[in-house]
Amino acid sequence: MVHLGANREANTITFENFALDTIDRNGHDFIKISSDTKTKIAGLFVVGDLGHYTGKNYMLATCLTDAINAATQVARYLDENAQEQVMVSTHYEAFEERNQAILLHYFD
Ligand SMILES: Cc1cc2nc3c(=O)[nH]c(=O)nc-3n(C[C@H](O)[C@H](O)[C@H](O)COP(=O)(O)OP(=O)(O)OC[C@H]3O[C@@H](n4cnc5c(N)ncnc54)[C@H](O)[C@@H]3O)c2cc1C
Repeated sequence: MVHLGANREANTITFENFALDTIDRNGHDFIKISSDTKTKIAGLFVVGDLGHYTGKNYMLATCLTDAINAATQVARYLDENAQEQVMVSTHYEAFEERNQAILLHYFD
């Protein structure tokens, strides 16, 4: 499910269809999630302002972190052997050979 934003502009996606837990904050419904973007429905993740967990800051940086967490959780949902945490490309084995080739190409 992809639904972005604090303004619910239409009933395109209704929470009822998904039987999600919501929390009312200042007259708006937010979907209860864990900090890694999981909802109570397996395979359904929420990122951005729509999701709420205790201590969440409603800022752009949080949305970006949510997106990384959701991508990781989607990968793990699809493949139980997927890594629990993402890794920067410079520390990722698969990129090492390619990175070396790029370094040699430009700096050798
Ligand atoms: C006035 C204001 C100032 C802010 N200033 C800052 C700041 O300085 N720094 C900072 O880090 N954060 C700031 N924020 C918070 C930041 O903007 C939000 O945390 C962030 O934009 C949330 O991103 P989002 O993608 O979840 O939602 P949004 O950015 O709100 O995007 C949601 C999009 O989904 C669309 N949409 C809504 N309903 C539907 C639908 N049914 N179908 C299709 N599309 C739909 C909306 O039109 C919108 O384009 C500010 C927020 C506000 C309101």
